[in-house]
Amino acid sequence: MQLKLYNSLTGEKEIFKPILEGNVGMYVCGPTVYSNVHLGNVRTFLSFDFIYRTLMHLGYKVRYVRNITDAGHLTDDGNVDNDRFVKQTRLEKLEPMEIVQKYTVDFHKVLEMFNLLPPNIEPTATGHIVEQIELTQKLIERGFAYESNGSVYFDVLEYNKRGLNYGELSKRNIEELFANTRDLDGQGEKKNPQDFALWKKASPAHIMRWNSPWGEGFPGWHLECTAMSTKYLGEKFDIHGGGMDLKFPHHECEIAQGKACNDIAPVNYWMHANMLTMNSQRMSKSTGNYILPMQLVTGENDFFEKPFHPSIVRFCFLQAHYRSVLDISNDAMIASEKGFIRLMEAMKVLNSITPDNGKQSEFNLQEWKNKCYDALNDDFNSPILIAHLFEAVKYIFALNDGKETISSEDLEDLKSTLHAFIFDVLGLQNIEENNNEKLDQTLKVLIELRNQARKSKNFDLSDQIRDKLLAEGIELKDGRDGTTYVLN
Ligand code: AMP
Ligand code: ZN
Repeated sequence: MQLKLYNSLTGEKEIFKPILEGNVGMYVCGPTVYSNVHLGNVRTFLSFDFIYRTLMHLGYKVRYVRNITDAGHLTDDGNVDNDRFVKQTRLEKLEPMEIVQKYTVDFHKVLEMFNLLPPNIEPTATGHIVEQIELTQKLIERGFAYESNGSVYFDVLEYNKRGLNYGELSKRNIEELFANTRDLDGQGEKKNPQDFALWKKASPAHIMRWNSPWGEGFPGWHLECTAMSTKYLGEKFDIHGGGMDLKFPHHECEIAQGKACNDIAPVNYWMHANMLTMNSQRMSKSTGNYILPMQLVTGENDFFEKPFHPSIVRFCFLQAHYRSVLDISNDAMIASEKGFIRLMEAMKVLNSITPDNGKQSEFNLQEWKNKCYDALNDDFNSPILIAHLFEAVKYIFALNDGKETISSEDLEDLKSTLHAFIFDVLGLQNIEENNNEKLDQTLKVLIELRNQARKSKNFDLSDQIRDKLLAEGIELKDGRDGTTYVLN
């Protein structure tokens, strides 16, 4: 069985051949940390978490790099004073690095909630200014970039004159691009409207600024990913991922920068995850058509009739292939919840099955395993894998009803295989339905003990109970009707 993956660059499913056998270098564009991640952002990161987990399960040693964009991402109007961070700084009356910290913490919390594994390296744009300046210098030296009024631009026309092909990933024709681009970013500084910024001069009001050979400024967004992927994965690496919307211009520019710097295409396989939609419209902050992950989990929103556990959201996402659009809706979530509960029930039932070595079963375990691996190897096909898991679920319930048999060897194999697929590869988590109830009972006991301590004037102990719970994010509130608690 060979792993095949869809390469956006060629538009074909290709057999995956890593540069270094058994090893994978994978770079995924991370978030721009100037606001809370919405559920759409989560889908893209979750798709690559599944790909990362699958690669590891298939035996690859993966170096997974996902950056944090904490500088240099302008708003769509390209105005230097509308840098996303600077704008947010004004809005929230915080320092730029406070904005960065606040939303990086939120990003990590959200991904942890959905059981995403952390990448091996998580570099930041601001931590790699030196590398970005060096790359810009190199591009100027090689004749691919020029300085203009304190900013530096990549010369797209020059790139194409040398036989390189700007537009190869997004399949755009350069002449068309030239004809259709309005010069918003650059205000007459560029030779051609399609040229993109490697370094931008900071206006006096721009607070995120660094010294450079071209004066004070800040790096362009596309450059940071080239700088960080090259530094940690080399001039050429295996997989580069991101959301579909990053194909152009971001990834197109990364290819151009890489080729212009090192004379080789930087990436072998470009992978793009498709979008999450809601009400059939792409989820996006700017249109207001979005939901925050926490709102779905707590139920505090106008779209869904009840709250959903993060693992059910994860399951719902993985029921769609990463290259398909997924429309999230109340019905889809309810259906996923049902499926998820049945899957977990089957796992519980499996523990109580007694093997029978004498009888032959209709269910061919080896064949079933092969089908599951075929799904994984076929461009990370999670919905097909899940469909196969439900064949096993059916078999487990038939075993439980005494309508099927399994040998002791197969039983152990089925248990470990299902465990690996469900928990390691899909990254689902078992939800103990009565977890909340148990927590509630435990807290009531603690509140009771604290009350007893207070009655006997042992305030040391009662304060300790309160403070220790608070340190764990559980706040006790004393009111007229007794003590209640709030989970923070
Ligand atoms: P940003 O922080 O805007 O750079 O976005 C972070 C990631 O989320 C990028 O890879 C985007 O492609 C991705 N993304 C944005 N909107 C959606 C959406 N509606 N569905 C899936 N991914 C998205
Ligand atoms: Zn990027």
